[in-house]
Amino acid sequence: MPAPRDPVGLEFAKTVWRQQYENHVASEVTTLLRGTWSRVYAEMHQPRWAQTTRFTREQQTRLFIEINNIINAGYQQVNTFTAAELVDYAAVEQQIAARTLEVAITDAGGVLSANATRMLSQQMITSIAELPIQGLKLGEWWSHMSTNMGVMMRRTLQQGLLEGLGPHAIARNLFGVHGDGAVAMRSMREARAMARTATAAVQNHAATETYKRAGTNVTPGYTWLSARDNRVTPICRGLDGKTFAYDDPKAPLPPAHFQCRSTTIPELNWKALGIRKPGERHDLGFKSYASWLRGQTRADQDAILGRAAANVWRSGRVDLIDLVNKDGRKLTVTQLARKFGTEATQ
Ligand SMILES: [Zn+2]
Repeated sequence: MPAPRDPVGLEFAKTVWRQQYENHVASEVTTLLRGTWSRVYAEMHQPRWAQTTRFTREQQTRLFIEINNIINAGYQQVNTFTAAELVDYAAVEQQIAARTLEVAITDAGGVLSANATRMLSQQMITSIAELPIQGLKLGEWWSHMSTNMGVMMRRTLQQGLLEGLGPHAIARNLFGVHGDGAVAMRSMREARAMARTATAAVQNHAATETYKRAGTNVTPGYTWLSARDNRVTPICRGLDGKTFAYDDPKAPLPPAHFQCRSTTIPELNWKALGIRKPGERHDLGFKSYASWLRGQTRADQDAILGRAAANVWRSGRVDLIDLVNKDGRKLTVTQLARKFGTEATQ
């Protein structure tokens, strides 16, 4: 029997790949919004808005409606993209969760019945992808952001016109010539944070639903696992290592806040499974992700971070969290499934 793989370490390793998947989602969302802002910019450069003086109230209204339509259409595109993407992602995360259970149990010498990891229904997958985040569904978040951006635009436009600026000059101030002005940057930054938070919500909901479905004889609850570095928020530091029952309506589930990096691991019902809990030497206690990774072989570090990134990290020039956050690599949902899903050969 191979040495049991440590479930906390495995979960940590997955966060690196999940980060790369989030990079993919965030970058698609950014591209859609950059296109949106360049359309707003182009609209404000239409010859019909060229005059800088005596802009009538009616013209203002017409210009604002045009801009608002472009912004709404842009966020609608973002919504369509993320809605479809997150359904696929929920399906992959359930595979990953099923695999997590299987690995933990077989490594300890037990057997997991196929029944315990049967797939969630399509309806369940869809509802996981649509669960509220901090009180609002993702679609509601996008329309909320779209409205906010519209209001900000109207205010800035009215202010600029009052100051005697024309739409051309106002557009330059807002979006910059290359879409790098303050409004465009803020819109894209907020959308990226939202997209990352939504993927984290889907990941944790899909995982815990899969664990819960396996039954209390396999797993009676889950343990909160925070990123355990100096960037962890007080709320996540406080929840780290705490165990909750799946059917506890008050049990918290990550994300605890925007851009939360916490995840969960299933607690196994060793007694009901008829296997002995692997020894304490595999128990990580409260080690951080970085200290866990330092204890891995060079080959494992390379496999998790990628060789170039692992070299930079080993040189001590960069924090692990900076490395993971700024990792430019992207994984699609299909690539993620191959790494960790039922097809994976970990
Ligand atoms: Zn957190």
